[in-house]
Amino acid sequence: VIVEIEVDHKIEDPALQGQVRAELMRLYPAIRSLEFGARLTIVSIGPVDSREVYEIVGRLRYIHKHVVKDVVFEARHEPPCREDPYLHLERTGQVVPVVEGQYLIQGQFLGLMRALDAWVVELAREMGAVEQEYPSFVPVELLRRINYFKEFPHHIMIVAPLRATADALGDFAARHDANKRKFDTLDVVGALAPVALVAAPSVCYTCYYVLRSRQLDGNRLVTAKNRCSRNEPKGFSPLSRLNNFTMREVIALGDRDFVLSQRQRFLDMITGMMQRLGLAGRIESANDPFFTNDASYKAVFQHSLKLKHEWLAALPFRGDYSAVCSVNLHNDSFGKAFNVTGVDGEPMHSACIGFGLERWAFAILAQFGCDRAMWPSPLRELIDGSWGG
Ligand code: AMP
Ligand code: ZN
Repeated sequence: VIVEIEVDHKIEDPALQGQVRAELMRLYPAIRSLEFGARLTIVSIGPVDSREVYEIVGRLRYIHKHVVKDVVFEARHEPPCREDPYLHLERTGQVVPVVEGQYLIQGQFLGLMRALDAWVVELAREMGAVEQEYPSFVPVELLRRINYFKEFPHHIMIVAPLRATADALGDFAARHDANKRKFDTLDVVGALAPVALVAAPSVCYTCYYVLRSRQLDGNRLVTAKNRCSRNEPKGFSPLSRLNNFTMREVIALGDRDFVLSQRQRFLDMITGMMQRLGLAGRIESANDPFFTNDASYKAVFQHSLKLKHEWLAALPFRGDYSAVCSVNLHNDSFGKAFNVTGVDGEPMHSACIGFGLERWAFAILAQFGCDRAMWPSPLRELIDGSWGG
């Protein structure tokens, strides 16, 4: 079928054309081609709902107009290196693939990740943060309260115990006798107990969850590092889009003014880090890649309220950027979700900064190369531990 759809104005911007094309092809896999003239012409081997298309085009146009990136800081210089560091890291055994999206890390690359982490911890301590450790699973109830299952179902990695009856365990054991059968996935039909845990997709949630139905005794800063797990259906990419990765967060909880001032300190902190390292890239407002239909409106919402900022580091070998860190302002949404109040009796406000340590270390090597002798001295000093402050 060929469908011609009236649109309010001709769609001329190539970026908007790309978004419309991607969204319509996702919704209607039967679409074979799209042409942006005075009308939108769609060739499809299946039915297309022209009202829905009209609405989607209108929505994407609206977003396109309203999503203005606010650049907080930018360093545009040309980095000295253009090579993909992954090849060297794998060849020297510093990084060993375990399965797709998961790596064993050792040697200098591990040293760099640790030094970056220690740097953040030191700055967090100076800000007055308390150190915490969390389990690497979170309860289903926690994610339910923040509607994670609706908004990010594509990320979840379920942690499921087996039903602990003799029958269920016996059946399971018999189906998975490695002497009799070869298998790479488990046959869990009928074997699972109700799922109450999910591998933590992020760090800070646990910190709010344990405070549920309580009142804070004051404003506070916390820092924690955890292994995070996310499925990434768009695919994994070595050391930058992982299934299992390490995140260091600094978290601010308390009243609105305190949290806003800490969010500003987080942004200043990464601006300082970018300058000190001499890393090319920028810090700008961003939005989360939500899954749900109203995702596009959420993106506008996050942008216009400047709820999320990302530190994007240049990856010269790919000619693009990678988010090594994000700064999130939650306002009182977690305070409300977990029924936590501040000393003022109002729902608690919160903000966090999260560094993806593998990505950050990878971006540094992508810009400065793997030969330590060629690194700028601040970076070498960081690794040597002689870098005060
Ligand atoms: P987000 O909670 O999505 O803002 O992520 C916080 C930080 O974690 C990002 O800025 C990245 O540095 C890192 N990160 C997020 N997803 C991944 C992933 N799949 N693999 C590696 N690092 C990630
Ligand atoms: Zn967080």
